[in-house]
Amino acid sequence: MADKKEVRVYNSMTQQKEALRPAVEGKVGMYVCGVTAYDFSHLGHGRAGVAFDVLYRYLLHLGYEVTYVRNFTDVDDKIIRRSNETGENPLDLSNRFCQEYLTDMADLQCLPPTHQPRVSDHMEQIKDMITQIINNDCAYVVDGDVFFAVDKISNYGCLSGQKLENHRAGERVAVDSRKRNPADFALWKAAKPGEPSWESPWGLGRPGWHIECSAMSAHYLSFKFDIHGGGIDLIFPHHENEIAQSRAACQESCVSYWMHNGHVTNNNEKMSKSLGNFFTIRQITERYHPLALRHFLISAHYRSPLNYSVLQLEGASEAVYYIYQTLQDCEDTLSSFREATPSEGTEPKGKTVRVLPDAEKCIKGLQKDFHDKMADDLNTSHVLTGAFQDALKFINNNMNTLKKKQQKQRQLAIIQSLTEIEKEVKGVLDILGLLPPITYSEILEQLKAKALIRADLTEEQISRLIEERILARKEKDFAKSDQIRADLTVKGIALMDVGTETIWRPCVPVEQEEKLPS
Ligand SMILES: [Zn+2]
Repeated sequence: MADKKEVRVYNSMTQQKEALRPAVEGKVGMYVCGVTAYDFSHLGHGRAGVAFDVLYRYLLHLGYEVTYVRNFTDVDDKIIRRSNETGENPLDLSNRFCQEYLTDMADLQCLPPTHQPRVSDHMEQIKDMITQIINNDCAYVVDGDVFFAVDKISNYGCLSGQKLENHRAGERVAVDSRKRNPADFALWKAAKPGEPSWESPWGLGRPGWHIECSAMSAHYLSFKFDIHGGGIDLIFPHHENEIAQSRAACQESCVSYWMHNGHVTNNNEKMSKSLGNFFTIRQITERYHPLALRHFLISAHYRSPLNYSVLQLEGASEAVYYIYQTLQDCEDTLSSFREATPSEGTEPKGKTVRVLPDAEKCIKGLQKDFHDKMADDLNTSHVLTGAFQDALKFINNNMNTLKKKQQKQRQLAIIQSLTEIEKEVKGVLDILGLLPPITYSEILEQLKAKALIRADLTEEQISRLIEERILARKEKDFAKSDQIRADLTVKGIALMDVGTETIWRPCVPVEQEEKLPS
């Protein structure tokens, strides 16, 4: 376990990086806004899920006891609209897409949060908070609707920098004339026919969107907690309104660090349904392994915009393949050595084998590089380059050295070095959520299966092409054998001649055009 290194995170409230100092020593309370469940989740949801999962895993690794809450919005206008289209009960529809979201998150290897509350299960907490806000004279009731009075909050706009005057001047949407200030927003909406509704002191109705996160964060983490996260779009109005509501309900309410992840863009435009440049996680994982997608998602700093790119997904697939292949080879090498010399594990004390000086340097370099980057506002963008790649290179080089004749003592030192570096590499992958839950050979097979889908080929077709190529070479028709290999490389399939055998592995397709998954 690493010692509690000072971790700095960017706080959207103060707009600077700050040392993360939880209110209670050793414990972190973290609330992240989840999805409104009415459809399959898109890449932006995947990005937020992975960004905060990396934070969660890193904090756990540092030894913090983390209470991680991520909500589901299962009562909302969009859900009601969609259910009116499909004829499905709104809660059934949202429950279905909550499950689909959980499947996506599990595929992307995101750890389940400690609590995943849903609005429909927390009506009492929501109504209690609205009552409190009304009692504190910060909300008013009109015809069964309850509106929050933004004028009652002195620092409204503290997170987003939005000024109330801007709303009055620039209001483009028709303003509900019942509102005292155009920026006032609904805490409770009176029921309309055919909508799901709940009993309340203000009549049948349902909560507005923002109140759920104030109520559920207070319920699970109290009014004061450490980290509140979400996508950058949520800063205004959602998080601004959350701050206002929570303060109106409880003067002392306070979130110490507001953290926001950046957009996913496509051709540098924000991905959105209206622009039609939008992909669900499911569309991408049909063609790319979820762990390759995860690798792609953490390849940019979580606050930077991340541009969707087929080439980068190909690159990410190649990168994870290389990592798992190296670890698979390392494991094979180490286990064959252990089988050959079964007594190694019971080496008498005092005769412990020391790792090679190069290995020690490599391990220290990896540890320092990894923690320096992670502690600096989770800079995952280069965490798998540099020292991490040096470690993989060390493994590959030393496995080759091991195959040559060695002095016993040096052989043992190499084995020990490989063992320790493998452990370190796996530790890094685990914190990043990239350590596979299955064997390396299984995950390599899965990556190959995705490459076959992208190439639109079957294993049998590739075997046939390999045979044709062997035949062409026997007949000295090298033009043909080269053509077979080149045609496959264009499709992301690399042929490799190993001894007398030809095998294949996925590769980045040569001259691949930017193509969208369909
Ligand atoms: Zn929220």
